[in-house]
Amino acid sequence: MRIDVISLFPDFIRDSAALGVVGRAQERGLLAVQAWNPRDYATDNYRRVDQRPFGGGPGMLMLAEPLSACLAAAKAADPAPARVIYLSPQGPRLTQAKVRELAALPRLLLLCGRYEGLDERFIEREVDEELSIGDYVLSGGELAAAVLVDAVGRLQEGALNHADSATQDSFEDGLLDCPHFTRSETSGTEGVPAVLLSGDHAAIARWRRQQSLGRTWLRRPDLLARARLDAADRALLAD
Ligand code: SAM
Repeated sequence: MRIDVISLFPDFIRDSAALGVVGRAQERGLLAVQAWNPRDYATDNYRRVDQRPFGGGPGMLMLAEPLSACLAAAKAADPAPARVIYLSPQGPRLTQAKVRELAALPRLLLLCGRYEGLDERFIEREVDEELSIGDYVLSGGELAAAVLVDAVGRLQEGALNHADSATQDSFEDGLLDCPHFTRSETSGTEGVPAVLLSGDHAAIARWRRQQSLGRTWLRRPDLLARARLDAADRALLAD
């Protein structure tokens, strides 16, 4: 998969995508993250990328022209079609289901706003969808883009050392993950639920499912209301 990110801070994008699982996915050739700076496509002497908005008011907006030229260059760098996403507090909130959908695409092109955001005409013309990482306002889209790159990158086949670990994470089946306990030489088995030491795999699976259901009920009842539960789940919840 290829992810191009348009940002006034390309070093942040490159540096964050070089770390951890995403960095490893890049080293393994499963993912390529490329950063583009719209300032490189500004045509005036000051390499200007912002301008005051029509109608007055506080703040500056990112100019459409350098963004359009930068986007065209990024698109032309690879023949694979790209889904163009503007990271914006006004988009629908990112979910794991959306991350799964995006992770299956060959290419994403992410736009990071700064100042008061992007020229609306550019958004209407070029953007396929807007995505928010939560109901709060950041000063720029870079952290949001890094969140999306990480969430999508770790789902590339072969990125995680244990393929199963992603499918057992929170949200994958609509529930929160169960608690986990580390094997430790110093703290031994103190505080570890006995069932996890029993070697009884069926009992462990049942306990984990029950914990997962219980946690979701306590912490995220909104998720539980939407989750697809079978009769066995309902019996575990009632226990
Ligand atoms: N004036 C905009 C508004 O109120 O909707 C906010 C602009 S914000 C200061 C600058 C940039 O940060 C945005 O263009 C967007 O790219 C990014 N951003 C801010 N909050 C975000 C969020 N919750 N999710 C994704 N991107 C966000």
